[in-house]
Amino acid sequence: MLIVSEIAAFRQALQRLARPVGLVPTMGYLHAGHLRLVERARQDCASVVTTIFVNPTQFGPQEDLATYPRDFERDSRMLEHAGVDLLFAPNADEIYLPGFQTWVSVEGVSQPLEGASRPGHFRGVATVVAKLFNLAQPEYAYFGQKDAQQVAVISRMVRDLNFPLDLVIVPTVREPDGLAMSSRNAYLNTVERAAAVVLYRSLSCAKEAYEAGERDAEALRQAMRNILESEPLAQVQYVSCADNDTLHELHGPVSHALFSMAVRIGKTRLIDNFVFRDGTWLTGSFNQG
Ligand code: AMP
Repeated sequence: MLIVSEIAAFRQALQRLARPVGLVPTMGYLHAGHLRLVERARQDCASVVTTIFVNPTQFGPQEDLATYPRDFERDSRMLEHAGVDLLFAPNADEIYLPGFQTWVSVEGVSQPLEGASRPGHFRGVATVVAKLFNLAQPEYAYFGQKDAQQVAVISRMVRDLNFPLDLVIVPTVREPDGLAMSSRNAYLNTVERAAAVVLYRSLSCAKEAYEAGERDAEALRQAMRNILESEPLAQVQYVSCADNDTLHELHGPVSHALFSMAVRIGKTRLIDNFVFRDGTWLTGSFNQG
């Protein structure tokens, strides 16, 4: 695996890779969820390119940019072992030159949910992902369903700006108790870690209620809230049962939906979701270790 941190070296290395190329963008501190994306890319592509970049422009001023977990040595060993061909790990000043002033803003679908809780977040995400697409020019790019709204935003951007690539969305990888794997889980202490399973329990409760015949969107949201509120350490930011494509909250009977939530457990902000589409629930899979 070749590791580069400068754009010129990245471009040169890309020219030598066999096509098709699959791109897996990450912020590092890797876990089995990230590795599942790499594994999918390996199956589909002749070469796999991973990026590690903790993108400052997608963090708000009160957020965890400074403390975001980092372990480059461990990450690069994991990627090498997973069969990645090229790792691009730039510094922020390589990506954002002095005087940088060009942004990609996806409108409607960026606004509710995460967009409402984290102003400017998706402008940072869309901008850096557009830059990575322009630099790497991959045939395929891999994103996790764990970040459902990010998937909606990037899908919209790819269509609206005619990026010539296919997005591949990989189901959420979960810990054995159901907690969605996330770099931010490292922030949780033992008591908080035990409490964090409440997100999965809450989503599972909505699924069970639906399967037992409940169809009303507000009743399904309330079923999720009830479980979250039973956990004293959980501070709910939002609970949503929204249209899969527009992400507008649904009212009345539900036939397909994105069930999602953001919850603080102590100081750690966690998100999770289930998708119900075409009569099927996408809940993710358990990490086999
Ligand atoms: P991050 O490093 O958190 O920015 O994540 C990089 C990519 O990995 C994004 O496309 C995420 O959606 C994806 N990802 C993160 N956690 C998981 C997970 N538990 N299962 C599947 N994909 C994930």
